[in-house]
Amino acid sequence: MTAVTRFAPSPTGFLHVGGARTALYSWLYAKSQGGKFVLRIEDTDIERSTQEAIDAILEGMEWLGLTWDDGPYYQTQRFDRYKALINEMLEEGKAYKCFMSSAELDEIREKQKANGEKPRYPGTWRDRTDHPEGEPFVIRFKNPLEGKVLVKDHIRGNIEIANSELDDLIILRSDGTPTYNFCVVVDDWDMGITHVVRGEDHINNTPRQINILQALGAPVPEYAHVSMILGDDGKKLSKRHGAVSVMQYRDDGFLPQALLNYLVRLGWSHGDQEIFSKEEMIELFSLDAIGQSASAFNTDKLIWLNQHYIKELPVSEVLPYAKWHFEQQGIDTSTGPALEEVIKVQADRVKTLKELAEISGYFYHEYEDFDEKAAKKHLRPVAQEPLEAVKAALMALSTWNAETIHEAINKTAENLGVGMGKVGMPLRVAATGSGNSPSLDVTLNLLKPEQIAQRIDKALIYIANRQQS
Ligand code: GLU
Repeated sequence: MTAVTRFAPSPTGFLHVGGARTALYSWLYAKSQGGKFVLRIEDTDIERSTQEAIDAILEGMEWLGLTWDDGPYYQTQRFDRYKALINEMLEEGKAYKCFMSSAELDEIREKQKANGEKPRYPGTWRDRTDHPEGEPFVIRFKNPLEGKVLVKDHIRGNIEIANSELDDLIILRSDGTPTYNFCVVVDDWDMGITHVVRGEDHINNTPRQINILQALGAPVPEYAHVSMILGDDGKKLSKRHGAVSVMQYRDDGFLPQALLNYLVRLGWSHGDQEIFSKEEMIELFSLDAIGQSASAFNTDKLIWLNQHYIKELPVSEVLPYAKWHFEQQGIDTSTGPALEEVIKVQADRVKTLKELAEISGYFYHEYEDFDEKAAKKHLRPVAQEPLEAVKAALMALSTWNAETIHEAINKTAENLGVGMGKVGMPLRVAATGSGNSPSLDVTLNLLKPEQIAQRIDKALIYIANRQQS
């Protein structure tokens, strides 16, 4: 039997990191088994589902590289199938029409609560045949009255629930729309799902769903209910804790490789290994190694992983994601050095790709103003002579590369009888606008001699103006 897993988001908002982790586990299990991963959009809640949310989910999945082999399916396109099955169940006596009004049901529930009982539908219409003509009704599933349901869960072990705990679930509403639990069951069956990986908030649905599957004669999949993600304060992770949307992490400059690595470790482990490539995750992943306890989101660790991947991944893999950030910041990377080269020299200086683009603008366009602090400190009258001298030395170079540039700067310092810093720092501020850059020879080499000349002139003007004021 090949494994078939699915991710079944309800499109009522963006792709949350919790959802992304569930999707990742589901995807990994399918991949680790050489199986199939299905994407299913559970859009039956028409009021709350939006096209925008669907697009956001698909975009998030694509950005993470969690590609699906089948789908996306949309539950709203499968209503005929659900209804046909409900009719069959009615005919076979596996479901029944219930004419109880909601007011009546509320009254029963209130009484039950007052008696300290669990509120539940008491099966009033289960065996009645005196159906009133033309009255609204819902269709309920005939849940077995006796016995128990066994949920085999890869994370939580075996869970047994007595059928006496479960009431007869509504499967078709009075407006003729099938309910959520029923659609899930039919889809899992039709799509051949062998392993259901989902959030633990669905665990109460599982015994009900198993009963319906069994009534339909469908195979029961295996389950893995994944724990919640908590914020740093131990409460359920939410917007209050910062970014929770996958696309927000993209916007903030994270690599999908880092986020995936972070998410896989949030609840799953393989010894004390922290770094996993996608290939390694697929090779090592198992549902049984997912932990039961809730995990707390740790942004510092995610940042650490992001830094790791920016530095360690082949530049060609970082390139498309980095390019996106340069574009977002309106930096035209066709006007300067190959972006690969800029990534190489900046990679170990940044935590995020957003930061990478922010500190690399000077490679592609003139910086507007000098960084105030750096200019105050390094563009002082004493820097005038070194700047003029180094400009002359650089402009005299017949070959422009890191070595010749290095030589020229060295020589200038030597000739003036000053330390390297006295030449280097003003030159750095002139060339980049700030006091922070990769080593000067590499930085300058990525720029053109005429750009350097022009920027040194700009620094000299700054110094001159400063002397006047
Ligand atoms: N649509 C459900 C959700 O977004 C998931 C249902 C399932 O995985 O069975 O929470």
